[in-house]
Parts: sequence; structure tokens; C-alpha cells
Amino acid sequence: TAIIRDVEEAVTAIDKAAYKDVWVYIEHADGQARNVGFELLGEGRKLADSMGQKLAGIIVGDKVEQLVKAVFANGADKVYLVEGKEFAKYTTDAYTAVFTDLITDYKPSVILMGATINGRDLGPRVACRVGTGLTADCTDLGIDEQTGLVAWTRPAFGGNIMATILCPEHRPQMGTVRPNVFKRPQPDFGRTGEVIRVSSTVKPEAVRTKVIEAVQVCTGSCNLEESEIIVSGGRGMGKPENFVLIEELAAVLGGAVGASRAVIDAGWKPHPHQVGQTGKTVGPKVYIACGISGAIQHVAGMSSSDTIIAINKDADAPIFKVADYGIVGDVMEVLPALTEEFKKA
Ligand code: FAD
Repeated sequence: TAIIRDVEEAVTAIDKAAYKDVWVYIEHADGQARNVGFELLGEGRKLADSMGQKLAGIIVGDKVEQLVKAVFANGADKVYLVEGKEFAKYTTDAYTAVFTDLITDYKPSVILMGATINGRDLGPRVACRVGTGLTADCTDLGIDEQTGLVAWTRPAFGGNIMATILCPEHRPQMGTVRPNVFKRPQPDFGRTGEVIRVSSTVKPEAVRTKVIEAVQVCTGSCNLEESEIIVSGGRGMGKPENFVLIEELAAVLGGAVGASRAVIDAGWKPHPHQVGQTGKTVGPKVYIACGISGAIQHVAGMSSSDTIIAINKDADAPIFKVADYGIVGDVMEVLPALTEEFKKA
């Protein structure tokens, strides 16, 4: 109890006023920035403006300076740039150490990270190292009017309620945010800002893992989060063999293949294809839902799509409530007809 009290006292003794600025982790793979970083710059800009603070992008990697321009174009005022061979591939040890050092030295007020595989690994570790909390997997962000703190919103109790969480006692206020819940801002390549180069203090012996090879298990048709068109199938496809109709339409449109959880649970498709609350959140230009009823947990993962087209033989299926265009019909007839038409286009 005494130790816990000591820790609590140490934590509450922090000078909150010393913590300034909103930071966004600019995640990238081999120098290619992921969209989620830009989406978070858009939201970060709003938070920073409401708080009267600056927005910074955090870029860590090897030879990644070319990303700086896009980070300014998407709204940042500053970039903290840490380069070194030890950051060429993401490793938990190296990235946790560098983020911990950056936070200790520069004291940001808010940190946003994508709820990606890397962000979900990095966020909680860094939060723990610097003695703060973390709201994981957020689907909305705002400012709490009463306190001026960031209001982090995320589904709770199996998606039955949306919980809004504040971080009153600790700094920085940290959270991971699902990709595709926010739209990427319109870039302005005339914008520029301050680049702060930070030397790495990570000792090679502190990095316990080495990435020998990166094997992409999810390419092309399951690259849902970055795809502009998604054709998704549900239990209404009848059997796994019929998914070829989904794949054909997706191939003709140059899109990715999604699926409902019913399909994943039945073993027709692997989990990387799942869209929804316990799968991926997607926001493509066009989402085509085929034989999907439109359960709330599915809709939670695709409702931010620009245009939703639903094909279902039941005219009362809930999916039609969120669809912009609906086709009442049998997927076995409608899908081949659509594929044929798009082949001609
Ligand atoms: P069904 O609900 O069975 O719908 C099939 C649809 O196909 C029906 O509307 C039917 O009219 C139509 N149909 C049938 N035959 C044809 C045909 N020949 N032509 C045209 N239409 C046809 N679900 C997700 O998808 N993603 C998630 O991430 C997710 N997470 C969940 C988390 C929790 C905690 C819980 C409790 C549930 C979750 N679910 C999720 C499950 C969700 O509640 C639904 O059970 C699921 O989405 C149903 O999948 P479906 O629409 O494919 O199947």
C-alpha cells in the first residue's frame, strides 16, 4: 500500500502546465506513411486549435525525411524527426525507448496513435513507461467542455454502450484511434513548419528483437484499410465456394474483399477480411455489402464509407437503412450480372 501511495503521489505531483502540444505518431512501413497518421493529423489539428496548442507529427525510422512534407501538408506545425538504422523496421524495444525519451524531454499534452498492430503494441507500453493511462481503440475524439480535456470515445461492454473517457490526473493524455473513422484532411502542400531533429539515444543492446524478414500475409484483396473499393460478403453467400463471386467483382473493380463475422466464424474466410466492431473499421469510397443483414456490429465497421451499396433478397434487411443504393435480389444472380457489366466499362 505504501508503494502504491508513493507512486500515486509522484504521479499527481506532475506539473500539468508543463505539458503542451498535440502529437501524432506518423506510422509508416518501409518509408510509406499509413493513412491513419494523416487522418489523426486532421483530428489533431482540431484538438490543438481548441486547446490553443501546436500540432506535431512524430516520425521515427531510417531515411524517412521524405515524409516530412506530407506531415506539414496535412496540418502539422512541427515535426520531431528521429532517424537511425535501429528504426528501419518497427521493434517494440526501439520504438518504446525513443517515444519514452521524446515524451520525457518535450512533454506533449496529448498523443494520438493509430489503433493498428504497431500502435496497439506501442501505445500501452509507452503509456506505462511514462506513468499515464491510455484509451485504446477510440472511434471518436472531442474536447470535454467542462474540463477542457480530450474526450476519448470508444465502444464498451461488447459495443452496447459508447464510453467517453477523460484523463484528468496524468500527462500526456494518450489514446489509440481506429483507422478510417476520420477522413484524411485535404492536403495543402504550401504549408511548412519547424523540423526538430532528435538524435537517437537507443542503445543497440537494449533492442532484444531483430526483424529478419517481413512476410506480408495480407496483400491485395485483404488490404481493406487502404482500399478505395470493398466488396463484402455475408452468410447470404450460402457457402464458401460462392465467395468466388465476391472475389471476381472485387478483382474487376480493383477492390478488396471484406466479410461479415458470420463468414469468419464459419471458416469461409480468414479474420483479416472481417469488417466490424471486432474486425476492421473501413472507410472506402464504395462499400458493396452482399448477403449481409446489417447487424449493428457490422455497420460499426463500415458506416463511414462514402457510398454504401447493399444487395440482399430481404427488402426489410437493416443494411438498407445505412445503404445509399439498394438492390433487392439474389446475390447469385446480381453479382455475376454486375461483374459482367463492369468488365465492359
Ligand atoms: P446474417 O445476419 O445471417 O445475414 C445474412 C443476410 O443475407 C440476411 O439479411 C439475408 O436476407 C441475406 N441473404 C440470404 N441469402 C441471400 C441471397 N441468396 N441473396 C441475397 N441476400 C441473401 N459481425 C460482423 O460482421 N463484424 C463484427 O466485427 C462483429 N462483431 C461482433 C461483436 C460482438 C460482441 C457480437 C455479439 C457480434 C458481432 N458480430 C459482428 C456479429 C453480428 O451481430 C451478426 O451476427 C453478423 O454480422 C451477421 O452476419 P451476416 O450479416 O453475414 O449474417
